[in-house]
Amino acid sequence: MVATVRPRTPAGAAGLVAGDRILAINGRALRDAIDFQFYGAEDRLVLSVDRDGARRTLRLTRGAARELGVELQPPRPGDIATCANKCVFCFIHQLPRGMRRSLYVKDDDFRLSFLHGNYITLSDLDEPSFERILEQRLSPLYVSVHATDPALRWTLLGRPRHSAEILPRLERLAKAGIRVHAQVVLCPGLNDGPHLERTVHELAPLHPHVATTAVVPVGLTRHRERLPALRTLTDAEAIALVDTVAGWQTRFRARLDSRFVFLGDEVYLQAGRPLPPAEAYEGFPIAEDGIGLVRRFEDGFVRTRVRPSVGRLRRVTVVSGTLYAPRLARLLEGLAWPGLHAPVVAVPNDFFGGSVAVAGLLTGQDIQRHLAARGDLGEAVLVPAVALRDGEGVFLDDLTPADVARALGVAVVAVGPDPRALLRALRGG
Ligand code: SF4
Repeated sequence: MVATVRPRTPAGAAGLVAGDRILAINGRALRDAIDFQFYGAEDRLVLSVDRDGARRTLRLTRGAARELGVELQPPRPGDIATCANKCVFCFIHQLPRGMRRSLYVKDDDFRLSFLHGNYITLSDLDEPSFERILEQRLSPLYVSVHATDPALRWTLLGRPRHSAEILPRLERLAKAGIRVHAQVVLCPGLNDGPHLERTVHELAPLHPHVATTAVVPVGLTRHRERLPALRTLTDAEAIALVDTVAGWQTRFRARLDSRFVFLGDEVYLQAGRPLPPAEAYEGFPIAEDGIGLVRRFEDGFVRTRVRPSVGRLRRVTVVSGTLYAPRLARLLEGLAWPGLHAPVVAVPNDFFGGSVAVAGLLTGQDIQRHLAARGDLGEAVLVPAVALRDGEGVFLDDLTPADVARALGVAVVAVGPDPRALLRALRGG
């Protein structure tokens, strides 16, 4: 289903409009957005379209344009392949009751992995889907490995119906030239220590097809009734992990010409260790998984030139999660703009509780309650846009920035995770 058509593009010129359902391209029936990309890659396209129940044929020539100019609607929850796993650390199992239904969708869909970088387990992937990945060369994919030991992986995935063995599947993808970004959600006492060592060293021979292995710490909320007992990394474990990964990176670099294994930003912050320099992230291919986001943001912040507003006192309150707030405060102190007063407020996450300390999971009610107790908030409150659901503009608890603004009596501005956006918001536009 077409969501938007940009003007002055091949799709716009062909007469495609929002709401059209594209049924086939050049006689090939479309199953989903991937087929649209795959069959839509040719220069001349004959589109069979359903518009308000009537069939139409539209002809489209790509010409020199790289993009067709079409945005498709995101898949509806019922169209997404979901997992039958019960991973011991699944974040969805740890959500409080009563949230929006779409937040409880346990997607494990190779199409979303290819299109949006979602991590999948491959545990329920049937043979036709596997063949489709190979045929359409859906690369790269993002795969939750967690452990290469089949018995341990079976436990971590919550005893899936099918085999939990991952290496044969990755080998098959590698043979077909499909690139994979692997992920390990690290659960102390379960898949760390020698298990992590085995996982990393059994994945490494598949490099460069397995391009990276991300090691990210488990996130635990306080809503874990009747779920397996788990704990987070201790500070000492975080420090040891930073050292271990640094050692592996040195060895892999010599052998594979890549550091191959990368550690989540949170672990460096918890360990109080310096973040690696930008070049150590080798182009930031898995930044969306929290690997190098902080380094990229802070380097960009220092490099970006935005002039302060001259002769104007600017007072704003900047909201962040408790994990990153101290670093953000130091970053803003270094700005030294005359007339700028921008305290950073670390908002604790009472909604999820537990170890959840990242800005992206802050809710409107926590921000509202915490700021209401502070008094003067200045001209505006800057909140992290990553805490708002894509395209919907609502926090996870369904409050909007406008709701929070009404309650606090001050403008609330969502600021994207981009240094220029933050600097502009600090300046006031
Ligand atoms: S694969 Fe595991 S972590 Fe992912 S949604 Fe399913 S149960 Fe949750």
